[in-house]
Formats: sequence, structure tokens, C-alpha cells
Amino acid sequence: MMKKYDYIIVGSGLFGATFAYEATKRGKKCLVIDRRNHIGGNVYCENVEGINVHTYGAHIFHTSDKEIWDYVNQFAEFNRYTNSPIANFHGEIYNLPFNMNTFNRLWGVLTPQEAQDKINEQRLESNIKEPKNLEEQAISLVGTDIYEKLIKGYTEKQWGRKASELPAFIIKRLPVRFNYDNNYFNDKYQGIPEGGYNVIIDKMLEGIEVRLETDFFENRSEWEESTLKIVFTGMIDEYYNYQFGKLEYRSLKFENELLNLDNYQGNAVVNYTDSDTPYTRIIEHKHFEFGTQDKTLITKEYPSEWKPGDEPYYPVNNKQNNELFQNYKKLAEQEDRVLFGGRLADYKYYDMHNVISQALQLVEKEFSNI
Ligand code: FAD
Ligand code: UDP
Repeated sequence: MMKKYDYIIVGSGLFGATFAYEATKRGKKCLVIDRRNHIGGNVYCENVEGINVHTYGAHIFHTSDKEIWDYVNQFAEFNRYTNSPIANFHGEIYNLPFNMNTFNRLWGVLTPQEAQDKINEQRLESNIKEPKNLEEQAISLVGTDIYEKLIKGYTEKQWGRKASELPAFIIKRLPVRFNYDNNYFNDKYQGIPEGGYNVIIDKMLEGIEVRLETDFFENRSEWEESTLKIVFTGMIDEYYNYQFGKLEYRSLKFENELLNLDNYQGNAVVNYTDSDTPYTRIIEHKHFEFGTQDKTLITKEYPSEWKPGDEPYYPVNNKQNNELFQNYKKLAEQEDRVLFGGRLADYKYYDMHNVISQALQLVEKEFSNI
């Protein structure tokens, strides 16, 4: 029987949009649906007073993969923004990621050797042989002073769990450097698309049928009947009706303030690393694009445990959840008409470049014999 669509793509985030763009380019008829009232998923931006506001938290594109960099550059020009967040611990200001500026401010050390000696001394005192969790990993990398001031409070607010109960890999995302380089990422390419991320998503989905405020689960059988295949980028446990139990996610509440001043904090990202401040960071969006507007918009980010109805921003990739995910993955692997991908369906802490790369790999697999 003829189907109306070749692919129905559930989710218009970077994964869904990349897949839809590539499939359409290959002559496939696609429909993209999203339960939100806009396209773009978590990279969506709203324009307020000429400022591109990162509605779902600060998004900085970075990659070392030239193919991915060239790929996104076909949709937008990128500026030269380099992420250099500041940490505020009870009013003390430190540079991130952990580097000689941080070590000097904290200990007064002047040389890389002095900094390394200080860290080694603290590492030996803590007697950690093989780091088994985030706390031990952090202390092994940067010592107890930095762990106490810049990591513990932030991490426990962000994840709602003790740092000693979290996986070590989370902290390995952050570089530790014995030079004065405040660039948060080690990647070769970095920047913000000029005009915000919508420029990319709009181009990817140009000419493709999109239905917003449309939840796949509300008309599941109708969608299943009208398409040859489905690409699902939502929560995998929800897709399978939570039959093995719920995966855990962290959510965020964003509190925006439009201020009648041109510069609130002098930087796009300031992390509040103490445990007393209830938010983890304040984002001042105009600095992502070197904005010169008279006003400024800031966002405070409050982490919370995900519950149904909230947006699931971060998978909690501890052992228990990863094992649970494997049960869902086994079901997913048996599907012949449904393809899964993206941060929620793969239940992985993917960055944007990872998501695009995964989507392109799926495209390759799906269309290899065309
Ligand atoms: P999403 O963007 O989540 O898109 C999934 C879409 O599916 C959503 O629009 C959702 O509404 C829709 N959907 C879900 N279920 C249904 C359903 N049942 N029916 C219809 N629609 C549905 N990455 C970086 O590279 N750099 C950064 O600086 C960075 N910062 C981040 C900051 C925060 C606060 C967060 C949360 C993430 C950050 N990321 C960053 C990661 C980045 O957001 C993701 O890698 C990327 O956006 C994921 O794209 P996606 O398409 O997989 O998922
Ligand atoms: N982190 C921290 N202090 C900081 C910034 C980050 O302890 O000032 C830790 C925290 O556990 C966080 C992890 O490092 O979850 C990864 O940080 P990243 O900035 O990559 O987080 P994301 O941008 O994904 O929110």
C-alpha cells in the first residue's frame, strides 16, 4: 500500500533536522513533527531586543572534525566566539577551565611546576589510587582545593546527587591546563552561528512539511500508518511506555531578566560554584555575538530532577540508568521500521557536533545502496 510519507521524523532538533534535510535531498518525502511550538529542539533561539537568546541554555558549537565543521558552515557563518567561562565562588572570581590563571589566583603559584607540585601534594594526601567516581576523578586531576571551591558545589547542584555517586567521565569533559589558556574547549573549531542557531535549522527544514505542537504519542497509530519509516528522537523509555521503568534525567528551569543596562557581567557565562547559590550559572546572551545593544538579557539556570511534563535536558548516565537503557536498546534494535537517534533516544550526553555526526552516520547507513 502507498504510504503518504517515506519518513516521519519525531523531533525537530539537530538530529531530526539533519536527517530530514539529507533524506529530502535524496528525494524522500518527509514530515517532521514536534511537540513544542517551534523547530530546533534545544538549540532554538528567541530574538529579544535584537539579542539572540539561547532559550534552552548556552550553546557553543565546537568540534575537531573538519567534516562536521564544513557541514554546519554550509548553513551559517560562524563568529569567532571562544567560550571562557568565569567561576564565582562566594564572590571570588576564577578562570575556567582549570589553568594557570586559576592556579595562580588560588595558590599564588607562578610556574607550571609549582602548580603541578601543589596538585600532586593534595592528590597524595587524599590517597586515591584509581578514581572510581566524579569526586575521586576531580581530586586526582586538580586536587582538593579546586574540588571544594569550583567543582563540588556546582556538580551537586547540577546533578542533584553526591559527586561521589556520579560517574567520573562527566568531569573529564573539562580540560586541565598548565598554561594561561582560558579556552574551555580543546577543539580545533569553535563559534556561534551568526544570527543564532535558528539560521541553521530554518535552512535544514526549508521546504519540508513540519507540524508543531504535535505529540507523536497522541496520534501514534495514525503516524505509524501514514509512513514507511519513523525516525524517533524523543525519550526512548517513553517510546516503549516505560515498560522496564523510567530512565532518570535532569531538568532545568530558566529565569530570564531583561535589564536596562548594556553590560551585566562582562562575560557570556558565569558559573556559581558554591552550594548556597541556588542556580548554577548566569548566561548573558549578547556576549555570544559581541552585542552592542542598549539592553541586556540574562538567564539564571536552576537544575531540578526531571518528572513527567518537564523537559529532559540531561541523561543521568550512571550504572543503574545505563543498564536500564540497554533493555530499551535491545528492543530498538529489533525494530525494522523505526530508527532512533539523538540525545534522548540514545540516552547519551551528546554535544551538538556528536548529534550531527550520529545523524549523518544514520543517513549513510540508511541510504548506502541508493
Ligand atoms: P533535542 O534538541 O532535545 O530535540 C528533540 C526534539 O524532539 C525536541 O524538540 C522535542 O520537543 C521533540 N520531541 C520529543 N518527544 C516528542 C514527541 N513525543 N512528539 C513530538 N516531538 C517530540 N552542545 C554543544 O555542542 N555545546 C554546548 O554548549 C551545549 N550546551 C548545552 C546546554 C544545555 C543546557 C543543554 C541541555 C544541552 C547543551 N548541549 C550543548 C547539547 C545539545 O543541546 C544537544 O546535543 C542537541 O541539541 C541535541 O539534539 P537532539 O536533536 O538530539 O535533541
Ligand atoms: N563542572 C564543575 N564546575 C564548573 C563547571 C563544570 O564542577 O564550574 C562540572 C560539572 O559536574 C558539570 C561538568 O563539569 O556537569 C561538565 O561541565 P560542562 O560545562 O561540560 O557541562 P554542560 O555544558 O554540559 O552543562
